[in-house]
Amino acid sequence: MKIYNTLSGKKEEFVSVEPGKVRMYVCGPTVYNLIHIGNARPMIVFDTVRRYMEYKGYEVLFVSNFTDVDDKIIKKAVEEGVEASVISMRYIKECKKDMAGMNVRPATAHPLATEEIAGMLEMIQTLLDKNHAYVAKDGTVYFRTRSFAEYGKLSHKNLDDLRSGGRSLLVSGEDQKEDALDFVLWKPKKEGEPYWESDWCQGRPGWHIECSVMSKKYLGEEIDIHAGGEDLVFPHHENEIAQSEAANGKTFARYWMHNGFLNIDSGNNVYQKMSKSAGNFFTVRDIAEKYDLQVLRFFMLSAHYRSPLNFSAELMEAAGNGLERIITCVENLKFLSGSAGEAPVPEEEALSREAGGFRAKFEEAMDDDFNTADAIAAVFELVKFANTHASGASSRTFLEKLLSEIRALSDILGLIVEKQKEILDEDIEAMIAERQAARKAKDFAKADAIRSALLEKGILLEDTREGVKWKRA
Ligand code: AMP
Ligand code: ZN
Repeated sequence: MKIYNTLSGKKEEFVSVEPGKVRMYVCGPTVYNLIHIGNARPMIVFDTVRRYMEYKGYEVLFVSNFTDVDDKIIKKAVEEGVEASVISMRYIKECKKDMAGMNVRPATAHPLATEEIAGMLEMIQTLLDKNHAYVAKDGTVYFRTRSFAEYGKLSHKNLDDLRSGGRSLLVSGEDQKEDALDFVLWKPKKEGEPYWESDWCQGRPGWHIECSVMSKKYLGEEIDIHAGGEDLVFPHHENEIAQSEAANGKTFARYWMHNGFLNIDSGNNVYQKMSKSAGNFFTVRDIAEKYDLQVLRFFMLSAHYRSPLNFSAELMEAAGNGLERIITCVENLKFLSGSAGEAPVPEEEALSREAGGFRAKFEEAMDDDFNTADAIAAVFELVKFANTHASGASSRTFLEKLLSEIRALSDILGLIVEKQKEILDEDIEAMIAERQAARKAKDFAKADAIRSALLEKGILLEDTREGVKWKRA
């Protein structure tokens, strides 16, 4: 299996630190809003990587954090007049619902930055002890980038060019730094912000130290894969490497994987990165109102994960048709198999072998740096093969073989290819009544669970003054 490693700029054969085990860390979202479909790309892509690794027989430890202390979370908390944790908890819950809708499996662990402060204080102290960090007058602790000789090895940036930007330090108020590239490990609190005690000041951690610490705690000092969107290469991942390797004295991660951007037309056919700050985004929830989220997953996997991907209604339409083609084939095979005979049909032996051959093509594509676009093409070939050779005269064994091949390959991609049973109006009404009863009894967990169950079936609820309204997505 080959993986493109941002560190070397090459595809490399994958060899895990421990045979049979993969330790993988994916930087998760900052939770101050519903996630958008740009954030969904790494979730879907790396969930697929995990599934394929498991299919290959590895035990995969998959850790993905939630950044729950951050300026934007604090700002929103101030706006709403609530604690920052109210905001982060709300959006973590919503994020998990979106993940379930996209068939993204929960991670082995989903650590929260605010629950790992002790580990951060410890690592920062180690960095200070080893002279890789220094404390400025106001109590800010900075990482000393010049002390880490390999700084820049991931992003392959020209550090001199970056450092020449240092003249602006005085202007930006960061003149207490020794070097323009030094970055914050710990910073003093501002009035009204959440803070923790430390030897340097009452304050909170910088963003980068969170991931170094959580990765170490849940996966160990040397892991196999560290991943995220390509905007994280610099400075986030470069800084994580510096912190972890300076503190632990070991290679932090062997393979660095980065997905390309999901772009969106920002007018006149100019595609730009989807981002919360630019305001050019669709949330996963917006998309769920129009499409089954399986279509979103299919759309994301129809491109190579390192390529930029332009979002458009036409491409979503095409993704919907593609997925439908697989589902129709599965339905047809199930239907035929219901009345198929048990007696073996002689020529099916060779056909069965041929059907198994598509799996080899699929694996070849996935082994080549997770080329899901080609893997989907192999599934389509298999579907075409099934449509050509399955008929009322086929034996059950042959039909089951075709079915299990299509299901197995789709499952590796996390695609659900069974027709979802349409939920009846009266069942929806009954569930809404049950939810109302739960709310009345203040069993909000149950009420939320019912809302999520309906959402998964594409039913959207709206609580209005006149009562609960619902519609199909
Ligand atoms: P954030 O909440 O901005 O830290 O993003 C969480 C994850 O989503 C990171 O891995 C980002 O790199 C990724 N991400 C954000 N926007 C996009 C986008 N437009 N396309 C692809 N990945 C993105
Ligand atoms: Zn991170």
